[in-house]
Amino acid sequence: MKALQFRAIGAAPEVVTVPDPEPGPGQVLLRVTAAGVCHSDIAVMSDPEVPSELLPLTLGHEGAGTVAALGDGVTGLGIGDSVVVYGAWGCGTCPACAAGKENYCAHASELGIHPPGLGAPGAIAEYVIVDDVRHLVPLDGLDPVRCVPLTDAGLTPYHAIKRSLRKLVPGSTALVIGVGGLGHVAIQLLRALTPARVIALDVGEDKLALARSVGAHETVISDGRAASRVRELTDGRGATAVLDFVGAPPTTATAGACVAMEGDVTIVGLGGGTLPVGFGALPYGVNVMSPYWGSRGELIEVLDLARAGSIEVHVETYSFDEAPLAYERLRAGKVNGRAVILPNDEQA
Ligand code: NAD
Ligand code: ZN
Ligand code: ZN
Repeated sequence: MKALQFRAIGAAPEVVTVPDPEPGPGQVLLRVTAAGVCHSDIAVMSDPEVPSELLPLTLGHEGAGTVAALGDGVTGLGIGDSVVVYGAWGCGTCPACAAGKENYCAHASELGIHPPGLGAPGAIAEYVIVDDVRHLVPLDGLDPVRCVPLTDAGLTPYHAIKRSLRKLVPGSTALVIGVGGLGHVAIQLLRALTPARVIALDVGEDKLALARSVGAHETVISDGRAASRVRELTDGRGATAVLDFVGAPPTTATAGACVAMEGDVTIVGLGGGTLPVGFGALPYGVNVMSPYWGSRGELIEVLDLARAGSIEVHVETYSFDEAPLAYERLRAGKVNGRAVILPNDEQA
């Protein structure tokens, strides 16, 4: 089958042919319908510390497909069922996993358990193996192409926003930094779940236009003056919740400079920025967190929000052979919303 692989650190991903996978006991084989392209892949592909034993690696940690074969002992799904993959695979039995929070599994790394596309073979391929039926959620009529990004670009901001919900009361402000795949869903989640005023920051005017079209009340160019503009827009109070989907030094600095007293700064982006915490470094009572992905239960909640029509991912679709181009465009900041690869669609 065809697969898109990360084969050498710093190099572009390549379309290659690999053996067709077969499901082992307890596993499920999916024929991939759609696979999303996340900026984390770009960070991983240029990380000099990626363990060489993980390469070559088939990319794609946002996956949707139809069940093509069931390994021995698998029940609860039928051939042809349309599903999405919960990608934050854990051991399944530690306290975090038992609560569905496999994203915070205590044992995954020591057991060598990796998410698909981030260690295990991923979904940008004609077929993908899912290690356990508990990592699949039926789409029940949802469109796989529009919904596959919800497994990360929806789930990750949902998990990040959820912790700030009780603070996002009427009169509060939420600031979204970076209106890409995650950020444009974050704005919709904030509008659907809270009465907060939403301000969005990005470096591109096209991204700010997308932010307004999905519900941002105000948009501001992300530069050295952005924090003071946010203070002006909030009568000096600052933002109750700052969600940084870039996480680079200039944006974490902006986040710290415009968070309100008792507010939350949530650094989601992998841009290498940090925020010093200590008395006087930030306004009084601020919480700073860097969350990872989301829980299985939260993925089901996000899919329910899509089913209710409260959130809609803007997708750009690419054929399998155009997959390297999707990565090139994402790296150049040219993707509007989320790029989605259609590995089995000859028409794409
Ligand atoms: P994306 O490329 O789709 O979006 C990033 C956006 O940030 C773009 O619109 C870009 O124009 C904008 N941007 C770049 N520099 C900026 C700046 N200085 N100020 C404001 N905006 C700026 O990326 P994505 O796939 O949405 O991912 C966003 C980030 O979240 C990435 O760093 C990714 O690795 C990370 N991520 C983290 C998790 C997690 O669990 N913590 C999960 C998924 C993705
Ligand atoms: Zn991701
Ligand atoms: Zn676990």
